[in-house]
Amino acid sequence: MNIHFAPTAPLAKTAEEPIAPDVTGLNLYAIDKSLRDVLRLRLAPDLFAHLAPHFENLGARAASDIDASARLADRHPPVLHHRDRHGRDNQWIEFHPAYRALEQAGFGDFGLAAMSHRGGVLGWTEPLPPIAKYAMTYMFAEAEFGLLCPINMTDSLTRVLRRFADDAILQRYLPGLISLDPEVALQGAMFMTERVGGSDVGAIETIAGRDGDRWRLHGEKWFCSNADADLALVLARPQGATDGTRGLGLFLLPRVLPDGTTNAYRILRLKEKLGTRSMASGEVVLEGAQAFLVGAIDRGFVQMAEMVNASRLSNAVRAAGLMRRAFLEARELCIHRLAFGRRLIDFPLQRRQLMKIMLPAEQALSMALYTATVLERADRGDANAAKALRLLTPLLKFRACRDARKVTGDAMEIRGGCGYIEDFVEARLLRDAHLGSIWEGTSNIVAIDAIERAVGREGADAVLEETLRNQLTSAAALPQPFRATLDHLVPRAFDFAREVATGKDQAAMRRAASALYNVTSAVVLAGEGAQIGGAEGDWSRAALAGRVVRHKLIASDPLADWAPEHGSSEALINGNGVSQAELLRYLD
Ligand SMILES: Cc1cc2nc3c(=O)[nH]c(=O)nc-3n(C[C@H](O)[C@H](O)[C@H](O)COP(=O)(O)OP(=O)(O)OC[C@H]3O[C@@H](n4cnc5c(N)ncnc54)[C@H](O)[C@@H]3O)c2cc1C
Repeated sequence: MNIHFAPTAPLAKTAEEPIAPDVTGLNLYAIDKSLRDVLRLRLAPDLFAHLAPHFENLGARAASDIDASARLADRHPPVLHHRDRHGRDNQWIEFHPAYRALEQAGFGDFGLAAMSHRGGVLGWTEPLPPIAKYAMTYMFAEAEFGLLCPINMTDSLTRVLRRFADDAILQRYLPGLISLDPEVALQGAMFMTERVGGSDVGAIETIAGRDGDRWRLHGEKWFCSNADADLALVLARPQGATDGTRGLGLFLLPRVLPDGTTNAYRILRLKEKLGTRSMASGEVVLEGAQAFLVGAIDRGFVQMAEMVNASRLSNAVRAAGLMRRAFLEARELCIHRLAFGRRLIDFPLQRRQLMKIMLPAEQALSMALYTATVLERADRGDANAAKALRLLTPLLKFRACRDARKVTGDAMEIRGGCGYIEDFVEARLLRDAHLGSIWEGTSNIVAIDAIERAVGREGADAVLEETLRNQLTSAAALPQPFRATLDHLVPRAFDFAREVATGKDQAAMRRAASALYNVTSAVVLAGEGAQIGGAEGDWSRAALAGRVVRHKLIASDPLADWAPEHGSSEALINGNGVSQAELLRYLD
């Protein structure tokens, strides 16, 4: 299918063209040196070599046909129909062909929902590791955010079923969930939130009643993304179960029953949303819908946490992708747009704004791909990795999604008036970015999860702190004073988080979570910088670590600390590389 949009070709990159180009027609992988460097570092060499052409392909498509489809699908949101043309009650959602093209790209061509659960995706015989999925999710998000919800829901639902569901459920639904064939592929969703509360899950009122050997659900779900999904995981309270989250069971709700009839639930209406407009989020009423119990009846909330945590991680990766697109757009603009007879990139204040966009994007990239490697170890049974993951996931979801709001807004201003106009991508990036920190747990809820639960109750901090110390020890190539600074900051940040957790000081929990995120990202960036610097002589990531420390971990006096930036921002912004000698100036 051909998706048309205007303009269809990149704008001429000449000084005569007054409106500066965007990244349309470029390759988002080829112009993202950071992504390539970190992937080369973290992927096994044979897998990196195998995946590189696929990354190239997605990088090209993310700035061409996928981006074009995303723009169109955003302008033509889904429409809910309640009856067919014969007047029969037959609900269906009408999607623009551009959305179908996005589905084909995400589910089919790149196999994003299936690649963790089967071999044969992108020509790799084994299931691909999480880092491959998240690298692709990150690039896909640079073009389209909305569809990544159904993709992640399908992937995460499959993960939960493989972990907790019985064989009969798996035999019936797993083949469809991991299929790349749109004719038979099944999509997933998660119906949890009700009018009484999204954060307060324990307040859920939907009831599950026994009907012979099956369960029937009665109630209303207030936010249901991918509303017409084939399968949804639903939290409901079995009749007679206790109040609160402990009483909740987890149920699998099929849209079509095994006998081919439509299940007893209806979509009442679709939400009119600020962002993710391509994808259908609706309100659903359950009218005795049949559902299968998943896992233990009194473990519903705990099992659903598996889906929520997988979704939080995916969301953070998407935020990282949005920030990267924002940065790439801003850089492209500043290289080409002229003002006062000079390129914008030549103005020191504009470079400073670019650095403010770049730094959170780089932190999120490093944190996301590092967390992906921790997830891989946790899935192989490494208990320490599972503990570290327990803390890394909410830290990343909280901070990256918050940062994406600001970064996309700042990128909008960088483009000037055009940034505010829907012809360019910045407005869509901004609208989409604002959702990340609301769904899958608001910032408050996720920060409380990180500090009160992961640190305070589950003691996940000790493993992560020790891991960071070990990373610093092995990063011997870093300048000693900088290592000493990080050595000093790591325990301070973790002690602060423990103090806040012990005191149950909820008002300080966002600050504590930010401190942990910033110190962790500084160590991860520094470690990457040491490895890449030692091997290739480019110390950029260590220089970025220095900026995290300077701007986010050490207090400064706004009326006194106005010394000019050490080192050249331009080298970092352009990805030209930073030598070891320059690094010392950055860290001075
Ligand atoms: C577009 C969209 C799609 C969605 N899709 C889905 C979906 O597919 N499935 C699904 O289940 N849900 C979905 N949601 C729901 C989403 O997860 C919830 O909206 C979110 O968790 C917040 O819940 P709430 O809206 O009930 O707000 P509330 O829980 O009422 O929160 C309101 C405010 O109070 C704050 N707050 C609440 N409790 C505390 C506390 N203890 N301490 C401090 N502050 C607190 C929150 O941070 C927030 O700022 C979707 C939401 C949106 C916007």
